[in-house]
Parts: sequence; C-alpha cells; structure tokens
Amino acid sequence: MNFATPTICISACLAGEQVRYDGQAIHDDFVKLLLTFSNAVNVCPELAIGLGVPRARILVYYHSSEFRLFQPATGLDITQQMKEFSDWFLSAIGAIDGFILKAKSPSCGISGTKIYKDSTGTIFHSRGKGLFAMRVLERFEHIPAEDEGKLRDESIREHFLVRVFSFADLRRTISQQKTIGDLIEFHQNYKYLLMTYNQHKLRQLGKIVASYQKGEIDSVIREYTAAFYSAFKKKPSPKNHINTILHIFGYFSKSLTADEKNHFLHLIEQYQESKIRRKVLIDLLRNWAHRFGNSYLLSQKYLNPYPEELHTL
Ligand code: SF4
Repeated sequence: MNFATPTICISACLAGEQVRYDGQAIHDDFVKLLLTFSNAVNVCPELAIGLGVPRARILVYYHSSEFRLFQPATGLDITQQMKEFSDWFLSAIGAIDGFILKAKSPSCGISGTKIYKDSTGTIFHSRGKGLFAMRVLERFEHIPAEDEGKLRDESIREHFLVRVFSFADLRRTISQQKTIGDLIEFHQNYKYLLMTYNQHKLRQLGKIVASYQKGEIDSVIREYTAAFYSAFKKKPSPKNHINTILHIFGYFSKSLTADEKNHFLHLIEQYQESKIRRKVLIDLLRNWAHRFGNSYLLSQKYLNPYPEELHTL
C-alpha cells in the first residue's frame, strides 16, 4: 500500500540533536523508526530563545494565575520570550500531522512536567505541561501530540499512528487534483476505519461528500476536513473494533469452512479476553482478502492504516 508521508514536528533532542541542557541527545527507537517514514520539523524552543548548550536548569512555576518559565541560576524570567517564540513558530510551521515532544521538559513536556509554587523550584505545586507544549495544544486541538514516554504504550502509539497517517493521507488527497471523485474514493477507503472510530461521523462525512454540487469542491473539502479530524478524537474501544472486524468477516463467511469460521470466532473471544493482540485478527482478515481477491477490502485503511514496519516495536 502506498502511504502518504506525514509531517511531524519533533523536539530536536528526540530527533538526535545534542541540544539538551547537558549537551546530550535522546535516543528512542520508535521515534527513530517513525522518522524514516516522515518529514520531520525539528524544534528546540530553549535554544531558539537564546539559551545556550550546556545551560543552567530552567523550571515552570505557577504564580498569580500564570505559568512562568524561570532560570534560577541566572534570575532570568523567560516566559515572554517563550510565548513569543511559540506563537511565531507555530504560525509559520505550515501543514503538520502530529507532534512528538520530550516528556517532562519545562518547555516541551506534554505532561509530567514538574510545576513549582516558587521561582527557585523548592516547593512542588503539581505535574503539568511545558510552556511551548501548552501553546501547541491550544493551537492544534485536533492534531495528535504525544511525548516519547506515552508512545511506549501500544494503544496510545497505535492511536497516534492511525491519526498521523490518516491526516497526511487526507492532506495529500486534497492538495493534489481536488476532484470530488478523489474525495469519494478516499472516503470509501476509510469506511471501516471511520466506522471503528465514530459511526456518527462516518454518516456525517458520507452526507458531506454526497452534498457536492458542481463548482463547490473547496467548501466540501473544508467541511469534510473539519469533520474527518474530529472523527478521530477518541480512541476506539475493543467493542468498536470487534464490530468492524465482524462486518469485514461477513464478506468471507460463505467462502470459509466451518472450521475456519469457528477458529476465527474463537480468536475474537481471545481478543475480548486480552489473550491475543488485535493484529492476529487483522492479519487473518487481510490474508483472506488476498486469498479471495477482494480488492475493496484490500484498499480499506482499517486493514492497513500505516506501514507494517511500525508494528514491530
Ligand atoms: S526538551 Fe525541548 S527545549 Fe529541551 S532540549 Fe529537547 S527540544 Fe530543546
């Protein structure tokens, strides 16, 4: 399958640049592998606002209903510089399909960043976000943003990858010829993935495509894009997946032997009981789609949402 190349904004230290406070980079196998399938936009907000490498520790503290960024060793308050840089950078970044930011950082942390009650960092307040990450989450509500720690969790990683590759695919489709035929084909390919994520949005998106009238492609694309992004907001439950899997299984039920059918239903039970990974079921459905020459199912993104190599970690 031909996958679109997502554009991912990434903390520069995670992309291997030696920009951390101690002059080190972070080595993360999954991030490294994903970058071989993506266009990366590296950013180190601390370097960008003029803090050097190596640099003294900076921290976030909460004061007068505001999060502030401070460097205790120098007495520098860098809140304003970070806000200005973040706004400038995020306005200029262009089309983006996802963010991977460094966990716990006072600038990049999506979660887990230590927040203090005082500028010297002696009294703990709570765990929260870094200042650059706060701006990312405010401005890019529907774009997936995770840190490298969260991406070690298989289900979070899968949800991230599905969105990043789907959004890149939509961007590729609508940035090329922009015909209603392309959008219809795109929508058909996403039928079972959308059914899994959000049945209401699947119907809504179908109506948007069907409402097309000559000369109105731009407004249809705008409406479709907004609804498509919001369809992927919530991670689907195992029950949603089983519903889709049974729908796809229905295509083969007349062609399979009783033994094959019973075996598959047994595997579904095992998946329900968390004894096997869903990938076992998906691989079997994909093999049957090949065996019975079902090209409609083979083009379904549910069976191939992102490159196979990314399943390996
Ligand atoms: S976490 Fe962010 S600010 Fe810190 S070194 Fe990495 S890229 Fe730079």
